[in-house]
Amino acid sequence: MTGHRKLAIPAVLQIFLAHVLLLATLLGQLFFSPRANAEASAPQTLHVMIDPGHGGTDTGASRGVIKESEIALKVALKLAEEVRSDSRFKVSLTRTTDRKLSLPARTKIAEDAKADVFLSVHLNSSTDTRARGFEVYFQNQLPADEEAMFLVGREHEEETGALSPEIPEKAEPISVQTDLKRILEDLHRNHRIINASELAKRLIESVSRGQVSGRHQIRQAPFQVVQNIAIPSVLVELGFITHPQEGQRLLEDDYQKLLVTNLFQGLVKYKETIDKDAAEKLKLQASAQ
Ligand SMILES: [Zn+2]
Repeated sequence: MTGHRKLAIPAVLQIFLAHVLLLATLLGQLFFSPRANAEASAPQTLHVMIDPGHGGTDTGASRGVIKESEIALKVALKLAEEVRSDSRFKVSLTRTTDRKLSLPARTKIAEDAKADVFLSVHLNSSTDTRARGFEVYFQNQLPADEEAMFLVGREHEEETGALSPEIPEKAEPISVQTDLKRILEDLHRNHRIINASELAKRLIESVSRGQVSGRHQIRQAPFQVVQNIAIPSVLVELGFITHPQEGQRLLEDDYQKLLVTNLFQGLVKYKETIDKDAAEKLKLQASAQ
């Protein structure tokens, strides 16, 4: 076993170095191209895809005549109007009428439109009528050691490879390509999760400053709508329709407007943060050149 490991380590290192080189080349192209610089110098519009939860026969949570799908649509339309009035943003909606839409259809609409962020609007309910407050969910974190797992996987392949010597040496470049693709996908996924958590943070900060009722919290949950999408996405639960007072307030136009103002402020803060980050990255590149 010891002898085998001695042989295996340089091979793993070689593969690792090949990845590093390829990655450096690709990232170099990505960040140092004149096109990237020109685009980064002026903040781009942020395309927000607003997704009113449920719809049609899928009413979501309900209490008497109060339907989650209806309130979510009302708030989403108000928010879209607010976002549209600011030229720094572009806005789209997954639905503008009371119609049923599958979760994969929602994510497809957002991806086809090349939206930058996805904001799904929902309302909570609970059998405990004391439950109240605004919540933001974003995609679950990756396992912390995913990259370590990747290397372990390579090592494992080396070992199984040793048991089947017929594996041709020349298959290696294809494998490096595949793994590189996987690394880039992981980078992209990390970027998406970081941005989604940033957006969640900004929304909750904004809502906490406003007069929105109850406790406000950020949560991570494997909601399909925020899980299986290629852009940063968050899901907001505006409040509990099952809470006697909060449920009532959620129906009121003024309270819906208050929620919209706070959500919009959160989006503005998020945009300012990512624009600032982009400007700093640009400064760093300029000093490196
Ligand atoms: Zn819902």
